[in-house]
Amino acid sequence: MSISQRIKEKIDIVDFISSYVKLTRSGKNYIGLCPFHNDHNPSFTVSPEKQLFYCFGCKEGGDVIKFLMKIEHLSYREALAQLGRRVGIEIDETGGESTGGIREFYKVNDLVTKYFYLILMEPQYGKTAREYLARRGIKKETIDTFRLGYAIASWNALQKFLERKGVSLEIQEILGLIINDKETGKTYDRFRDRIIFPIIDITGHTLGFGGRVLDDSLPKYINTPETPIFRKGQILYGLYQTRDEIMKKDQAIIVEGYMDCISLYQAGIKNVVASMGTAFTREQGLALKRIAKDIVIAFDTDTAGDLAVIRGANVLREVGCNVRIARWSVFKDPDEFVRNQGPIVFLDIINRAKPFLDYMLDLLINRYDISTLEGRVQFFQEFFPLLRTEPRISVQRAYLDKIATIGKIPPEILYREFDVFYVSRKKEFEVTSISALSWMQREDIDTLRERLERQLLFFALNDIKFLNIIKQLLQPDIFTIKEYREIYERLLQWDFDSGGFETEDDRLSSIIAQINISEQIELSENTLYETINRLNGIILQKKKEELIKELELAEKSGDVERTKELASKIQELTKEIFSIGERRMSVNG
Ligand SMILES: [Zn+2]
Repeated sequence: MSISQRIKEKIDIVDFISSYVKLTRSGKNYIGLCPFHNDHNPSFTVSPEKQLFYCFGCKEGGDVIKFLMKIEHLSYREALAQLGRRVGIEIDETGGESTGGIREFYKVNDLVTKYFYLILMEPQYGKTAREYLARRGIKKETIDTFRLGYAIASWNALQKFLERKGVSLEIQEILGLIINDKETGKTYDRFRDRIIFPIIDITGHTLGFGGRVLDDSLPKYINTPETPIFRKGQILYGLYQTRDEIMKKDQAIIVEGYMDCISLYQAGIKNVVASMGTAFTREQGLALKRIAKDIVIAFDTDTAGDLAVIRGANVLREVGCNVRIARWSVFKDPDEFVRNQGPIVFLDIINRAKPFLDYMLDLLINRYDISTLEGRVQFFQEFFPLLRTEPRISVQRAYLDKIATIGKIPPEILYREFDVFYVSRKKEFEVTSISALSWMQREDIDTLRERLERQLLFFALNDIKFLNIIKQLLQPDIFTIKEYREIYERLLQWDFDSGGFETEDDRLSSIIAQINISEQIELSENTLYETINRLNGIILQKKKEELIKELELAEKSGDVERTKELASKIQELTKEIFSIGERRMSVNG
């Protein structure tokens, strides 16, 4: 049995959801007000029998893992880990069950976090580091919140400490706490004479560390290298401390450095995270998108910052975030800014942060002289592809008008220039609207067909015996609804020895919950055969309609041979359809 199934087996969905939603019994299900949309009548249904939920209002649905993902804005892995902890199953970074190793890694890192913290607080050893933090305005309370620490200027203090605690050198090396010099074979502590910033995941475990020097020596910062539990691209510094505040404000401010994050937090601007110094990744973007609508990038003001801003903003926009850019002059980073000007002025900068397109427009207008032809071409080449990503035509127009005014270019010329960039997309659009139209005209028969396909899938989802019957009697292309076909194809590939079917796909899991909760048809072999017959009937009926159309054409053109041929084909089809009706009646009887 898969790990997710073992966890789900130990949790009752009705119990679990009851701690979030007031549920009342209704027939064999429970109903309540949906937590995912503004619900006035209870449209939210939980089935204890199927262990699924489904909302008839907003069409959200799935199993207990999906529910926790949606309600707490977690990724699949995070939700699974949280549920696992409830029932005593630890999940590692890959989503599998923790072997002793991963649990041990967390334990060691948590121990090291405490060790560095205690040294920072130690009257003698931690004195210079505490003085340094005090000079930078960091309070004791903030040190506690972020679990800051200090590594003394020793080559093996940590190593010795961990040895006394029974942690092997091998584990210390895997976790990047010590460095093994391959030439001399000697090992030494990675972090020496540095302020320590533990990097904590949202469950509160330390994944790795950042270390900063107390003076101007280089490198200013060093980090834990990639380890089995520390993957830079997946982590946002500060998220453990700031997640609730980000959700409450529905806004996340992204800064570059640990100190920026801590400084803002201490100044009362608590909806902030720090990128881990490397290029912003999709995973980080998705983690933010789940918890906040408004993302504001507040990176350093140097030119490297400019590039990082554009790159970061692009990643965030690709995953669907609404991105704004905060810029200012004089102070080099948010830490310096807020220490000099205080939080109110900084918040003002955040509030006035520009939408990404405005920011890019200003930047490119400054870079290119659009009063010259050459400058204009370069400007178009960089700005138009960005503008194309804006879905609202009216907004696109507004930008073009703005450019027209700045460059003293007639707006019509700009519209036409932009349309050239646009042609390919427009064609795509026309094609979809035509197919949408023809779809509408066939609504009736297709509604019926969709219902039958849904019933068929309901059988397939509920018993492998039914799935096997369907597999034998029908081709996979019997499903015309794309999602149904996808589910059916996944079912065919599923290894049922490993447990019941499930999927992490957001869209498909909602549809599966919908079918399982709302479908009323009786699950018996007889009703399955009836459904298959009716589907076959519809397919033949459609074929017959096509042949009749062909027949009419053949008659008009006076093609006697063809007319005869078609007429006999239609007769055969009619017989077949009739016999299906007979079979159905005998099944019903
Ligand atoms: Zn709903």
